[in-house]
Amino acid sequence: MTEITALLRPNVLRMKPYSSARDEFSGMALVYLDANENPYPMEFSRYPDPSHTALRDKIALMKGLHPSQIFTGNGSDEAIDILIRLFCEPGCDNLLTIAPSYGMYAVAADVNNVECRRVMLRPSDFDFTADSLLMAADGRSKLIFLCSPNNPTGNMLCRTEIVSLLDRFEGITVVDEAYLDFAAAPSCAELIDKYPRLVVLQTLSKAWGAAGIRLGMAFANPVAIAAMQKIKYSYNLNSSTLEIALERLDREEDMRRQVEEICAERARLAEGLEQLPTVVKVYPSDANFLLVKVRDANATYEALLREGIVVRNRHGLDLCDNCLRITVGVPRENDLLIDAMRKGTSNTISV
Ligand code: PMP
Repeated sequence: MTEITALLRPNVLRMKPYSSARDEFSGMALVYLDANENPYPMEFSRYPDPSHTALRDKIALMKGLHPSQIFTGNGSDEAIDILIRLFCEPGCDNLLTIAPSYGMYAVAADVNNVECRRVMLRPSDFDFTADSLLMAADGRSKLIFLCSPNNPTGNMLCRTEIVSLLDRFEGITVVDEAYLDFAAAPSCAELIDKYPRLVVLQTLSKAWGAAGIRLGMAFANPVAIAAMQKIKYSYNLNSSTLEIALERLDREEDMRRQVEEICAERARLAEGLEQLPTVVKVYPSDANFLLVKVRDANATYEALLREGIVVRNRHGLDLCDNCLRITVGVPRENDLLIDAMRKGTSNTISV
């Protein structure tokens, strides 16, 4: 029994997965009469490949991994939910996450009736220590969700502390790297051979510009990936997602160029915002957004809405008093934002 097998819920270990028509026959045939599809030739009349073989092969090549180390699903959100269902016994196990962070970890825990323990980041730099998480853990802590670069704070988490956690936490550590392409830092995916209890999440929704197709990836030990495949819906990725993802991944150069432009704009936007009297602080960012503390987040949010600009109001989140999360747009959009904030400020001052 591997370390991963010992951590899986016993019902998952015991269960026999559903076997679809395309699981049972995946070769080429003259006539397909096995899946109760409509026999007339129409686009999308056939079920997609449930194993996503071509896509996983391609991602494996790009990432320097083996396809057995890759799970592909309906956004990273599917992987988050599947990991909780694989490792956490509802009503008795718990998971840990940093706060503030991506809200879906807590929501997916709630849906699965799993306690979510939130460990506050350091207010001074929004970073964490392995100790602080381990102190909040107990024998029923099965999963830790880290997010690096973190949403909504924008910073990378300290790699040394992540590794320290991997060395010491006996459950599964998940590092969500949705925004990694915007950071000048290596992926934790290079650690999965050494740490079998590490799962790394990435997505096509951010830098790759394909949020609409819903394609998320998990990189991990083949035993963990096989368990994820075992409980996913058979056809969790539809035919158009598979097709578009393959095409999009051929355009890595375009992605890299756009990321460079977005990062340059991130710096310009931060500089522009820092000049505004309503802005208290622009936090450093390794992502495609800026966390910005203003004098009155609700008032600025409303003022921007009146100008037709929507940002994310993060006021009320831990450590995010009067903070807005602002996605970096194209130069014209960023100019409009700065103008609108300047105008909103002068309105507020004149009131
Ligand atoms: N992780 C983080 C940190 C995110 O911010 C988001 C989306 N906001 C996701 C995952 C979800 O990504 P996907 O579109 O792949 O479900």
